[in-house]
Amino acid sequence: MELRLYDTLTKEKRPFVPLDAKNVRMYVCGPTVYDFAHIGNARPVIVFDVLFRLLRHTYGEAHVKYVRNITDVDDKINDRAARDFPGLPLNEAIREVTEQTGKQFHADVDALGALRPSVEPRATEHIAEMREIIERLIAGGFAYAAEDHVLFSPQAMNAANSSLPRYGALSNRSLDEMIAGARVDVAPYKKGNTDFVLWKPSKPGEPSWPSPAGIKAEGRPGWHIECSAMAWKHLGEHFDIHGGGIDLVFPHHENEVAQTCCAFHQERMANYWMHNGFLQVESEKMSKSLGNFITIHELLKDWPGEVLRLNMLKTHYRSPIDWTMKSLEESARTLDDWYRVAADVVPGEPAASVVEPLLDDLNTPLAIAALHGLRGEAAALSGSLRLLGFLAESAAQWESRKQQASGVDAGEVERLLAERTAARARKDFKESDRIRDLLAAMGVAIKDSKDGTTWEVAR
Ligand code: AMP
Ligand code: ZN
Repeated sequence: MELRLYDTLTKEKRPFVPLDAKNVRMYVCGPTVYDFAHIGNARPVIVFDVLFRLLRHTYGEAHVKYVRNITDVDDKINDRAARDFPGLPLNEAIREVTEQTGKQFHADVDALGALRPSVEPRATEHIAEMREIIERLIAGGFAYAAEDHVLFSPQAMNAANSSLPRYGALSNRSLDEMIAGARVDVAPYKKGNTDFVLWKPSKPGEPSWPSPAGIKAEGRPGWHIECSAMAWKHLGEHFDIHGGGIDLVFPHHENEVAQTCCAFHQERMANYWMHNGFLQVESEKMSKSLGNFITIHELLKDWPGEVLRLNMLKTHYRSPIDWTMKSLEESARTLDDWYRVAADVVPGEPAASVVEPLLDDLNTPLAIAALHGLRGEAAALSGSLRLLGFLAESAAQWESRKQQASGVDAGEVERLLAERTAARARKDFKESDRIRDLLAAMGVAIKDSKDGTTWEVAR
């Protein structure tokens, strides 16, 4: 069976045909590093990790290149730096914020079982590429400098008599309607009210770099140009897959397409545009003001990363997801069971019943249903779970972590179990029942079999 992916641009599921099967290329918009990542940010990380793993499984590990950027220049970073490190010069404070947050992001996504991308470029290391694209856009008549800014003109793009894509095609909007609906109080240096910033002046003390377009004052890039520059540098002018959350379709991805296609005279930037749906918490939009804003870091104190991962993958990536405590508990029980059955067996090939739904536009809910059906085939279950990024630990590690998290003292449990065995041997069933009830009250479930008694922390 072939891989099929849904493309936001053409609004259809199509067979995936890479430009070069020896070098399959994917770009995903990464985090802006100014604060702990929240559980919504974990969704693209996990979803595109599954796709990365599936592509590696299909085309070979050496033949897939996955780029996920780090945005380390942004107003939110500057604000945070000034607030958290008031004693430091702004540039040093910014370095502190981006380094700390970047490290935290890595710790979080490693715990979620996500492979590191092939390249994780930082925006501030690609200023030369941004300037180059900006110069090309000006030379092509798509961009202009005004009052130390450089602006991109969507109208110039759509007026160009060429094979460029139409501005608005990705997000399914009409430029005329955007022009009619735009705010009236547009910045005076903009020629058109839908023109967007490629480059802007830096305020005193802010990070700044020599400007393009003959602008004397130093400046800094707009957000959209960063991704065009990093994708170009690491994947070329035209590549296979571009991903991110659905909120990025407009304006971020629409503008990336415009910049890249106009700078390099391409009909397309990426052949497949993939977007994950949004995550909400207990049926509400996650926000700081509602008090239901949860970071990955906080969740990892209560749940193993693989539980968060499974919980995310139970919903198809394009559907909205409702993140609930009930569903987390269920995911934890499922993983307990899979760890018991499959963690310590030699993995076999992933089962076709799991791989086939994945090939159908990453149908992870169906793949997970198939995993439930593999309980009796431990080797296939193990191989399939590993393909999906599970079973990083042994069964014993998993169980001991659960014990630690629950505060159950394994030594105490063993002592009580020995007492219970002794009570049973002398046929004192009242005492053995009392000990079983005591263990149950401690959150320990026991199972008697002909080989003796085993126990685990009950979920
Ligand atoms: P940001 O740091 O806000 O630019 O987000 C980084 C990534 O997380 C982007 O791909 C966003 O689309 C995605 N994202 C942010 N919030 C959510 C959410 N609530 N649900 C799903 N994805 C999200
Ligand atoms: Zn981006």
